[in-house]
Order: sequence, then C-alpha cells, then structure tokens
Amino acid sequence: MSSQSKGGEGQHKHEIVLAGMVNVNRDNYLQGVVDVWTCRGCKKLFCDDKRYGEPLKPSVGFEEVPEDEQWGILTCTDIKGVYMMSLGVKPGKTLKHSCPRNGIQQEFVVRDDWTIAPDDGETVHRLFLVKDHINKVIEAGFYKLRMLK
Ligand SMILES: [Zn+2]
Ligand SMILES: [Zn+2]
Repeated sequence: MSSQSKGGEGQHKHEIVLAGMVNVNRDNYLQGVVDVWTCRGCKKLFCDDKRYGEPLKPSVGFEEVPEDEQWGILTCTDIKGVYMMSLGVKPGKTLKHSCPRNGIQQEFVVRDDWTIAPDDGETVHRLFLVKDHINKVIEAGFYKLRMLK
C-alpha cells in the first residue's frame, strides 16, 4: 500500500506497512483499537481508529500529523464507558474535544511531558502517545484510572 506525501518532501512516496495496534480497554474489556501504520522509508506513523459499535468511517487514505507533532490517543472515560480517538499532539497545543455522551466542550493543553492535566471529575480524560503503546494495552476504564492515581 502506498500514499503520496502531502507536501514538502519532494518525491518521497510512502511505503506503508502495518506497525501494530494499540488496544484501548475499559476495565479489561476491549473498547477500541487504533491500527498503527508506518512508512518503511521515513518512519512516519499513521493511525486509524476502530471503535466498537461504530460504523467504519470511509477510508480516505492515510492521515498524517505535522512534522513537529506526534500521534496521541485521547481517552474520555466516564462510569458508562470509554471513548477514544487518535490525533496529532505536541506540547503547548490545545486539544478541543466534545464528550460524546454529554456533549460538553472540553479544551486541554498538552504539557511538556506529553500528558494533559488530570481532570478527574465525572469524566476522566487522558492522553497517551501512540509510539509508546504499539502492541500494548491502554487501560482507560473508569475504575482502573481511579486506582492508578
Ligand atoms: Zn514515507
Ligand atoms: Zn470527553
């Protein structure tokens, strides 16, 4: 599989292979998977979310994050479930997110250690870096996150 780079890199043509996946759990139950792809040439990562119970989005090719950003996974957890999405992050960047269950608009600023400030109210948000979790499990269940504090 291949995909043309969107800019700035001349004629480099990505040669994309599956790097692995990141599993996102809700208290030991698999809630979603992020497929992680990488280019054999430039080692860039590409992510594709697969959330259970949602139709697959029409594939429009591989999304890239800007050169100075990393792929992150934002998890949104409340007592009823876990929602996750992959997105480009970097320290200082403001992430806008609306909680899928209650529609509350949230903004998070990525800290220098690539995390977001804990906001442990009724909904708990966390940020994880994809590159640190390839073929690993992120446990984002409400009870587990509370226990890990
Ligand atoms: Zn490439
Ligand atoms: Zn949320």
